[in-house]
Amino acid sequence: MSALLNQKIQAVFDEPGCDKNQGKSEKERKKGCTKQLAPGAAAGGCAFDGAKIALQPIVDVAHLVHGPIACEGNSWDNRHALSSGPLTYRTGFTTDVNEMDVIYGGEKRLYKAIKEIIDKVDPPAVFVYQTCVTALIGDDIEAVCKAATAKFGKPVIPVNSPGFAGVKNLGNKLGAEALLDYVIGTEEPEFTTPYDINIIGEYNLSGELWQVKPLLDAMGVRVLSCISGDARYKEVAYSHRARAAMMVCSKAMINVARKMEERYDIPFFEGSFYGIGDISDSLREIARLLIQKGAPDELMARTEALIAAEEARAWARLEPYKQRLAGKRVLLITGGVKSWSVVAALQEVRIEIVGTSVKKSTKEDKEKIKEIMGLSDHDRAHMIDDMSPREMYAMLKEARADIMLSGGRSQFVALKAKMPWLDINQERHHAYAGYEGMVKLVEEIDKTLYNPVWEQVRKEAPWDAPVAEVAHG
Ligand code: SF4
Repeated sequence: MSALLNQKIQAVFDEPGCDKNQGKSEKERKKGCTKQLAPGAAAGGCAFDGAKIALQPIVDVAHLVHGPIACEGNSWDNRHALSSGPLTYRTGFTTDVNEMDVIYGGEKRLYKAIKEIIDKVDPPAVFVYQTCVTALIGDDIEAVCKAATAKFGKPVIPVNSPGFAGVKNLGNKLGAEALLDYVIGTEEPEFTTPYDINIIGEYNLSGELWQVKPLLDAMGVRVLSCISGDARYKEVAYSHRARAAMMVCSKAMINVARKMEERYDIPFFEGSFYGIGDISDSLREIARLLIQKGAPDELMARTEALIAAEEARAWARLEPYKQRLAGKRVLLITGGVKSWSVVAALQEVRIEIVGTSVKKSTKEDKEKIKEIMGLSDHDRAHMIDDMSPREMYAMLKEARADIMLSGGRSQFVALKAKMPWLDINQERHHAYAGYEGMVKLVEEIDKTLYNPVWEQVRKEAPWDAPVAEVAHG
């Protein structure tokens, strides 16, 4: 690993904004958060994948992967981060290095690829991603990007996060470091207002940002930059002029939020857009921070009026589902911020949570779950650290849960147990953020639970039924 990358990783591991990290000894901190994977376990994404996930939602830039084509193939568009305009981000660009490049080095090939993209597509910037193979052969993407920037007069941004550096979450942060080092603070907005905010760690999956933006518009708050859902390059480049920030995804980009506070005096808070109570709290917190930074006090009254109207509307729409869903038991296998924000959301319609996974949750996430579910320090039965597919299957088969909400990888466990399952992770096709999203989530749970197909699949197959005796005359 290059000295520069090593230094960056150590800096990211030593994150003062992360309480979990600060609770460790210096020696433990140096080791980082990466756990060795058990052989045969599905590993999740690599660091390169994480960096790409974090930055690909910047929709007008070209994302060029410097490495073998398989890296790009694995990471291309496997989430539904939507764009309201440019579609450059949906074209897969790769240098597709071959054996000769491995022997002689791939820097020339990279430079040519950057030139070709600028000639043919002319994006506002090119992001160049390092991968395992090109890092191992020693390609210096920083130097190539610097030369290309000077030659073509366009920002060419190196994202030094090869797969072997660590897991996906580390990659998210290394991707964010590239923004801090090369993008944020390099442009100026045409104008600023006292109501400008940044949203950090929101990727606009299935259009979730668009369920929240109308609420902010109604408050009179402007999203100066969303890092990085549906973002334009310029927007990220001038995001340092915002007055306040909200960090959405638990810790994925905490380094951006914290360093922007440090460098540009932009206060931030961590909030959630899932669940009625949490959305309202987030809107209040945005208003509070903006007022603290000089926005007029009347912003709070406007926010409270909006919250009252939106909550009433959402509750009225949820009313018909309360009867149908009361007492239904959910097994929730997800991670991070969703492990508590979705719990809170489901409890609002009286759904019982039989278990929620905390494998990828931070210390604060766990505290929040305990608080929301009213658990004592010793009562951890509902908080699942690690559940094998076999245990999941047993739980569903014995009907200790009526439905499982999880990511696509565990769907077959539920289907094998002939139990309803709903996708709640990044590959989902529905947007669940905002008041609108909460109604949608409950609607989807109801549809899934009451789908007549479950009755059909649980019936005995006709060929398993005992054959009736045929009377012979
Ligand atoms: S682990 Fe390395 S080779 Fe595999 S996808 Fe990630 S960057 Fe590419």
